[in-house]
Amino acid sequence: MNRIASRSIAVWILVALLLGGVAFFVGEYFVKGDTWVMTQGSPHIYNGTNLGTGVVTDRGGTLLLDTSDHRTYATTKELRKSMLHWLGDRHGYISAPALATYAEEMAGYNSVTGLYSYSGGGTARLTLSAKLQTAALKAMGEYKGTVAMYNYKTGELLCAVSTPTYDPDNVPDIEGNEDGTYEGVYVNRFTQSVYIPGSIFKLVTTAAALEELDDIRSQTFTCTGTYSYGREAVTCELVHGELDFDSALAQSCNCAFASIVDQLGAKTLEKYVKKYAVTEPVSFDGVTTAGGNFSITDASAVQVAWSGIGQHKDQINPCRFLTFMGAVANGGRAVEPYLVSKVTAGTSETYRAKATTGKRIMPEAVARELQRMMHNNVIEKYGEENFPEVTVCGKSGTAQVGGEKKSNAMFAGFVADEAYPIAFFVAVEDAGYGRQICVPILSELLPVCMEVLDAE
Ligand SMILES: [Zn+2]
Repeated sequence: MNRIASRSIAVWILVALLLGGVAFFVGEYFVKGDTWVMTQGSPHIYNGTNLGTGVVTDRGGTLLLDTSDHRTYATTKELRKSMLHWLGDRHGYISAPALATYAEEMAGYNSVTGLYSYSGGGTARLTLSAKLQTAALKAMGEYKGTVAMYNYKTGELLCAVSTPTYDPDNVPDIEGNEDGTYEGVYVNRFTQSVYIPGSIFKLVTTAAALEELDDIRSQTFTCTGTYSYGREAVTCELVHGELDFDSALAQSCNCAFASIVDQLGAKTLEKYVKKYAVTEPVSFDGVTTAGGNFSITDASAVQVAWSGIGQHKDQINPCRFLTFMGAVANGGRAVEPYLVSKVTAGTSETYRAKATTGKRIMPEAVARELQRMMHNNVIEKYGEENFPEVTVCGKSGTAQVGGEKKSNAMFAGFVADEAYPIAFFVAVEDAGYGRQICVPILSELLPVCMEVLDAE
């Protein structure tokens, strides 16, 4: 009798364990089932390390990628090349984290029915314009770098091209190529690179001066080509002579900016770099960009001055600087950029982007004054005739990188017209002067961007 009782107890324990296990599994299935299905490596969803289900289109519906049948890319070579860093390749050398983020929405996963849209998958619509992407790729020519534009009112990334790139349908011999053509080809320079900013960083120092120095508007500067710190000096390539604050920025006078940095002091400059978030990574659609750098710990006075001029140890990420331009254009608060506008699976919309406005980084009056000064740069230096029909506000930079390479050329800014809320960032490596290299690229692309917006 005792034996039977203890056996039945053992059976009941086993039954309890089994039921508990089933309950646990069912619970886990409903809570985590989507994660199991979406696990990297699930052959239903992924293809190598990249998303393997569904279709990706540009903002106008042009096909960029159909993942069924071994990934079909766009129909033209130029479009395939311009989009590669957002879509990923067939072998997983270039990953596409933004698309992987929406795997669940693309697959239309459902706990009860499973992958109801598994055959074919969903459609992700990007904010990028195919027309503008290919125009940007053409404008970059053989140069390495990145060119990007976004709508600073809505946050939509309209264009973001990274070069060098290649055609995923006709992969070149990258490893065997030793002339540097494909240096850093797997990197999306817009999100993952950092550059020495050079003089575009003077915008940060200018804004800090507008906030901090009450008499900055009435100051004049005398540039003799050299601003001395004992045996060391900040220098200009030209002797700029007498300058007011507007012209100090427009002529990009290092000596005037050394004086401004002296007046601000290292601690205050550091405070504003932090306040404007110019070295912070940007996060959108599962992408976190590289962060920048501003480091003046133990720096000498001349090094602090160079830091306020965009040299020394300064580094900026293109996406972050573009967002900073968006903040200035938008009166001191950035609408954060994003890439995926919506996802549909079957007949239902499973995701739709919302604009996210970041916190205020500078008073509206400071942003307005900086806008005016940046437009003055175009009038005084870059040539309004390069940008007919729009009010462009910008600042160029030429960053020495050392070694045998030429300087990196930069140009950052925005259009200050209601109908065309476009912020832009151009970085061209090993190229020369920002104004000479980047202004023509922008003047080629802006009309295309305006056409794209006009057509919507
Ligand atoms: Zn000067």
